[in-house]
Amino acid sequence: MSIKCLFGHKWNGCKCERCGAKRNTEHKYIPVEGNCMEKCSLCGKPRSIEHKWNGCKCEQCGATRDEGHLIENGKCSICGIKILSIDSFTSDEISMIAVTMAIAQAAGKQFGERDTERHAEALVKTFIRASLTGRGSLTQSDIDFIHRYVTLRSSTFHTSGDRLEAEKHDKLLLKLKLIAPTEQASSMLF
Ligand SMILES: [Zn+2]
Ligand SMILES: [Zn+2]
Ligand SMILES: [Zn+2]
Ligand SMILES: [Zn+2]
Repeated sequence: MSIKCLFGHKWNGCKCERCGAKRNTEHKYIPVEGNCMEKCSLCGKPRSIEHKWNGCKCEQCGATRDEGHLIENGKCSICGIKILSIDSFTSDEISMIAVTMAIAQAAGKQFGERDTERHAEALVKTFIRASLTGRGSLTQSDIDFIHRYVTLRSSTFHTSGDRLEAEKHDKLLLKLKLIAPTEQASSMLF
């Protein structure tokens, strides 16, 4: 601190007009064009602001998210991602997947796999919502994720000798494959 400000700074927002000292308060934020962020015009400190979502895409910065897609003919007309509607599953299958996703979420948490935990958590929410409203959508990567964990769950039922559950899960696996073939196979269909 300079001797000039011995008896107190002369603050203009976050900066002292006399000695140039800074404080982390009262920044003068101005928006940054084409970005979902603002910058302090005095000290340059950035901060992010909320996206302006139009469905799955931000009108301001172009970021996309995996919700709010506008589905037309199995594709999102906003971001172009391939989408499957949840109404192709029976309520029984929806609860089977929801349970499997809850297990995947717990496993992800236990093993410190944040991506797994987060993806599973989002899918649990999607399927709980679907069981209430009958609506929802999935991307190819969701289906691949579900397929992976239903496979694991089915094999535990096979191991423990629970035939009925094993059969139910194997049927679900077949269905997952039918409605969402792997990228390689589906590129021949589309
Ligand atoms: Zn000062
Ligand atoms: Zn500032
Ligand atoms: Zn944005
Ligand atoms: Zn979209």
